[in-house]
Amino acid sequence: MPIPASQPLPPSPESAADRAGGTVTDRLVEANQRYAAAFTDPGMDARPVLKVAVVACMDARIDLHAALGLELGDCHTIRNAGGVVTDDIIRSLTISQRALGTRSVVLIHHTGCGLLGLTEDFRHELAAEVGQRPTWAVEAFKDLDEDVRQSMQRVRTSPFLPHTDDVRGFVFDVTTGLLREIDPRS
Ligand SMILES: [Zn+2]
Repeated sequence: MPIPASQPLPPSPESAADRAGGTVTDRLVEANQRYAAAFTDPGMDARPVLKVAVVACMDARIDLHAALGLELGDCHTIRNAGGVVTDDIIRSLTISQRALGTRSVVLIHHTGCGLLGLTEDFRHELAAEVGQRPTWAVEAFKDLDEDVRQSMQRVRTSPFLPHTDDVRGFVFDVTTGLLREIDPRS
């Protein structure tokens, strides 16, 4: 299987940055200047108000704050490809709970995830192409619900986390915006 990253991607819709010239980062920096001009220091503590950490896929179609009714300062959002609970997610959750007072964990995977259908062949082909084996697993999956259960299990059984009694997992449907809760026991 060819490595998807090396395949030509279909053309993206033309963005405002394309039309205005300059790179996408230039556009972000300009947007930040407008943001900062209207910004007032909310005087917040670093500890999340709702004492919750949300672990989710990095997918561009998931606006976590809007989808969950979250406000600035409410939660930690920890994202990676797939929303998979890796060692680095455990690292962030450990700091979130032990140093910054969170107690609940919400896991969000989603329909149409880029990791669905990838296999560990991706990793083997990557190693062959660059001549070096990555230290990480791709964490590809075929069964979305089962992957959420595995992530919940990794959080619940982590020896580093003091709060594992409120860990819930969901699948976000990118076409309806709705969450579907996954029963950890199924
Ligand atoms: Zn995804």
